[in-house]
Amino acid sequence: MKDIEHRAYVGGEWIATASRFDVMDPASGARLAEVSDADAALARQAVDAAHDALPSWRSRTAHERASILRRIRALHAEREDELATLLTREQGKPLAEARAEIRYAAGFYEWFAEEGLRAYGETIPSPFPGHRVLTFRQPVGVGAAITPWNFPSAMIARKLAPALAVGCTFVLKPSELTPLSALAIAQLCEDAGVPKGVVNVVPTSDAARVGEVLTADSRVRALSFTGSTAVGKQLYAACAGTVKKLALELGGNAPFLVFDDADLDAAVDGLMVAKLRNGGQTCVAANRILVQRAVHDAFCEKLASKLAQVRVGPGLEEGVTLGPMIDARAIAKIEAHVEDARDQGAKVVLGGKSLGGSFYAPTLITGVTSQMQMANAETFGPVAGILTFDTEEEGVALANDTPAGLAAYFYARDVGRVFRVAEALEVGMVGAGTGLISTPVAPFGGVKESGLGREGSKHGLEEWTELKYVCVGP
Ligand code: ADP
Repeated sequence: MKDIEHRAYVGGEWIATASRFDVMDPASGARLAEVSDADAALARQAVDAAHDALPSWRSRTAHERASILRRIRALHAEREDELATLLTREQGKPLAEARAEIRYAAGFYEWFAEEGLRAYGETIPSPFPGHRVLTFRQPVGVGAAITPWNFPSAMIARKLAPALAVGCTFVLKPSELTPLSALAIAQLCEDAGVPKGVVNVVPTSDAARVGEVLTADSRVRALSFTGSTAVGKQLYAACAGTVKKLALELGGNAPFLVFDDADLDAAVDGLMVAKLRNGGQTCVAANRILVQRAVHDAFCEKLASKLAQVRVGPGLEEGVTLGPMIDARAIAKIEAHVEDARDQGAKVVLGGKSLGGSFYAPTLITGVTSQMQMANAETFGPVAGILTFDTEEEGVALANDTPAGLAAYFYARDVGRVFRVAEALEVGMVGAGTGLISTPVAPFGGVKESGLGREGSKHGLEEWTELKYVCVGP
């Protein structure tokens, strides 16, 4: 791969700005790079470029756009080593997980190259003699995306791939903590033959200011955001002025229920994934582990022994399964949650301490109650807090007792219960007997305060298209 780009990418040009900001390596705390710092003017320039590039990009055939997406996908495979290493450097996750993320990201380009070919309209039997009632799916126009640091490549792919597939142009503001993977994607787009101005990337240390430009500009017709609920709500309000199409993937507070008829070994394995993937720093991370009383002790014993085998260290080190948290703020939040649980009488069975720098020990806490902070906000760390319940109804009620509604997981073997619980959980996504649900083929998204819209699957195209109805007279 060419040298990693540190400059903004606007209108097909790499732009060095006067001021720059630092990107840190979460494993060492050392400075990794200095990246161009886009201001409002550069963000506006990016919208100009996307706006100018729109007519020609949307008038290409879906087949032409699909072949470019397939090239982006192929470049992911060719450069997997470099992309994964870069991702681990700036984000911290173990290299094997970074590779998995690059493959997951590549999967979106592959999937939407295909789905873009199937952005079908329809003909509807007309109630008026001699008339034809037709629908078309058309690109929404210039799209903007604001993405988080926890999946620096995949969260971009999930938005960029469908946008490009249907003929939208794109302005991306990546997280200030992980802009390098975003710039690497801009490089891939350039190398794959994406025309100038179709994809623009504006890294910035001033998210609010650049966000304001993207939300206020009436030429931006869609905004797709993945991040915290608090910022999502601000963006929702900010988009009202221009009535943009919005996709919001916000915070979760995922319950993980273990019923008394569950296969406990399978449940522990599922939880290890749902809890520890990306160090617990995912919006679908199991945050509240609800265990039916009869199996509580056996489950916790098995879980403790699995957690004790986790190897903590820098993501690039061989054999490491838990990398650093993203930064000191993340550690402070985890510490606050653990302290609060301890103060309120929960028992720390394993871990419960920071290991220096941005590393935190895999932790098991029993006796958590719904009054504690860790049951009410995402801990975003390797902390498994266990609550107990007695009946199925009580378990489901506890699971639903949150304004968030992104993902939920449960383990049970009774078929009637499996369907009952899956239907009763107030979330957008359910893992019934699995701890890993993310895939490009399935619709990802939440209900309640966890967001609007769906990404991935055939439904992911809807965020980037408008349905137009045409009535042709006789
Ligand atoms: P987290 O707390 O997980 O970092 P954030 O919601 O703060 O989640 O960040 C997600 C994305 O939203 C990042 O790209 C960040 O820069 C961006 N962001 C944060 N605040 C704002 C804002 N006021 N306007 C626009 N984007 C923002």
